[in-house]
Amino acid sequence: MAEPTQDAVIVRVRDVTPRVREMVLLPSAQTISFVPGQWISLKLPVGERPPLNRAYTMAEPETPSGELVLAFDRVHQGLGSEYLYSLKPADRVTLSGPYGNFILPDPPTDDVVMIARYTGVVPFRCMLRRITAHPLSRSITLILVSQSLSELPYHEEFLELAERVPTFRYESLLPVIPAVSREDAEIQSTLDLWNALFRDRRDVMPMICGTKAFVRPIREQLRKLGFDRRNVRVETYD
Ligand SMILES: Cc1cc2nc3c(=O)[nH]c(=O)nc-3n(C[C@H](O)[C@H](O)[C@H](O)COP(=O)(O)OP(=O)(O)OC[C@H]3O[C@@H](n4cnc5c(N)ncnc54)[C@H](O)[C@@H]3O)c2cc1C
Repeated sequence: MAEPTQDAVIVRVRDVTPRVREMVLLPSAQTISFVPGQWISLKLPVGERPPLNRAYTMAEPETPSGELVLAFDRVHQGLGSEYLYSLKPADRVTLSGPYGNFILPDPPTDDVVMIARYTGVVPFRCMLRRITAHPLSRSITLILVSQSLSELPYHEEFLELAERVPTFRYESLLPVIPAVSREDAEIQSTLDLWNALFRDRRDVMPMICGTKAFVRPIREQLRKLGFDRRNVRVETYD
């Protein structure tokens, strides 16, 4: 059976960083009910055999208005994201969903360590906005890696949250890129921070999101540190 799709109108857009855009959509037929961490599939009229399906995670929890907030980066020569960057308020897109099980246990049974590279922070931003509306039963650490201060999505918001909520800790990483590749530097600095903060802890729940080149080596290192593969939750974008 074909998956049910519907149209949505673009209500507004705003730039979160010079290369990350937030887009607010309002589905026209049916409200989409979702859990933070879930995503929708956009059917874009581009590519050799349209529609081109691209997944985008909700950046904010469900609201009574039914608006969906997405956040995505402009991938160099990326078919889908370049097209999304061309859209303006009142344009329309086709979508389906929600999908996905990259979600927090409710309530979390362990302290949570969220690890994201760049727009991999989108599901965590959604979870944090939901959780911090209620008292936190467990501590949450967010480790966000990016190339530059201006490309840390929602950096100011996370700083403010860490000031306000004692059980939330925010660590931003901007690795210096020496002879090794950018990916290697990002992975190494994340693992160094992990060792500094959680070296002897196995009673935490790691969640990792980003591209495979970032997520997989970190999951592998955590496995070597004694984490069961199934207990490290991951979402990969590519
Ligand atoms: C479950 C899921 C949730 C996702 N949620 C988001 C989200 O909230 N925000 C978001 O920006 N993207 C998200 N993505 C990625 C998104 O679906 C697209 O893959 C991304 O926008 C690139 O598509 P494109 O057509 O522009 O690039 P393509 O033409 O498909 O080119 C992809 C190439 O760019 C590289 N690349 C660089 N940056 C990215 C990136 N961020 N994602 C994917 N590939 C990348 C890939 O390694 C690949 O080589 C998600 C993907 C999945 C599977």
